[in-house]
Amino acid sequence: MIIQPKTRGFICTTAHPEGCAQQVLRQVEYVKSKPAIAGPRNVLVIGASTGYGLASRIVSSFAAGANTIGVYFDKAAEGARTASAGWYNSAAFEKAAAEAGRKSYSIVGDAFSDEIKTQTIDLIRSELGSIDLVVYSVASPRRTHPKTGETFASVIKPIGGTYTNKTVNFHSGDVTEATIEPATEDEIRQTIAVMGGEDWQMWIDQLEEAGVLVDGATTVAYSYIGPEITHAVYREGTIGYAKNDLEATAKRLSEQLGKKGGRAFVSVNKALVTQSSSAIPVVPLYISALYKVMKENGTHEGCIEQMYRLFSDRLYNASGETLVDDRGLIRVDDWEMRPEIQAEVAKLWSELTTENVYELSDLAGYRKEFFQLFGFETDGIDYEADANQDVPIPNLR
Ligand code: NAD
Repeated sequence: MIIQPKTRGFICTTAHPEGCAQQVLRQVEYVKSKPAIAGPRNVLVIGASTGYGLASRIVSSFAAGANTIGVYFDKAAEGARTASAGWYNSAAFEKAAAEAGRKSYSIVGDAFSDEIKTQTIDLIRSELGSIDLVVYSVASPRRTHPKTGETFASVIKPIGGTYTNKTVNFHSGDVTEATIEPATEDEIRQTIAVMGGEDWQMWIDQLEEAGVLVDGATTVAYSYIGPEITHAVYREGTIGYAKNDLEATAKRLSEQLGKKGGRAFVSVNKALVTQSSSAIPVVPLYISALYKVMKENGTHEGCIEQMYRLFSDRLYNASGETLVDDRGLIRVDDWEMRPEIQAEVAKLWSELTTENVYELSDLAGYRKEFFQLFGFETDGIDYEADANQDVPIPNLR
């Protein structure tokens, strides 16, 4: 069928299989053009189908030559409804990995559940034996607790006071003011339960108990800090509280795995266009301004460049030492946070209006990347041609 984008707010309800495959292959080609990494051998990526998780899986497989298991929550096509982008991405990844002679397997389901953890452990036992790197890259609006059955919803709200700042509708280019009311205590609790570290801890505990983590294993989860303008809604808001919890979990896991020579890190990554970040008010306008400045400065990176730098320069560099900041965090947001970049973004920020948004920021680039997340606006794809929406994932378990 002919597949066109259908948007509802900040989500796109259709995805293009060939466009998604092309986006994945572009990332694979980037990694293959870079020096190989003496990195992990068997990698589990939880949240592996889009954004930073997908890029981590591609770097593991194509720069380090690792076997991978990807766990993610995506939907297959059903009748005239296309599959989700992560489904098509994973199908393309697995095909490319098989062609390159690497093992790769997919588990589609709720990573927060005990069933999926058990299924993953069984798969590790039968196919890989053990794991030496666990990447935790889940971004979700909801989580059902596996023991209590309570379902939590995460919200993106400030804490303690109302927050007002500029925001953009990235479809229309309208720059308006967004006002967000502060979160209640219960909303803070629920957001920490969804996006904090409890589930990461549960994964590591269960993998360790099952004896499928090698001694000396590494685990990494992702966080964000960002600039002053987004602090009230992000870093000092509900999601920031959840990230504090994630970072505290990294410290605990570091002690736990450290007993057998293992390591646990949180890597603070750059702000990028992903399905998750497009849902946060203010952030798409900030990213548009940031892209403009970093592209002009020659320091712009996407997910794949960020994850290649994380693996090659930090986690698996030749010195064996991982550079962290004074709070123990890996900082691959270092180029974003350079004072001269932030000063330039702050200057643009104060001037941005509906009239000048395309001139002063890279909103056009933001919008294009948003559609590319779903396989649209991709060079070399004929969007008027029939596409087969029914794409199988080769090693789906
Ligand atoms: P994303 O939306 O692109 O990816 C989320 C992944 O989680 C997908 O593979 C999805 O299938 C999976 N997932 C969601 N719910 C799941 C569930 N219940 N079970 C299994 N899998 C599930 O998100 P992203 O932006 O790549 O975010 C990944 C991490 O990186 C998050 O911790 C996020 O806070 C962090 N981060 C993002 C940015 C950014 O700007 N996008 C910046 C820094 C850090």
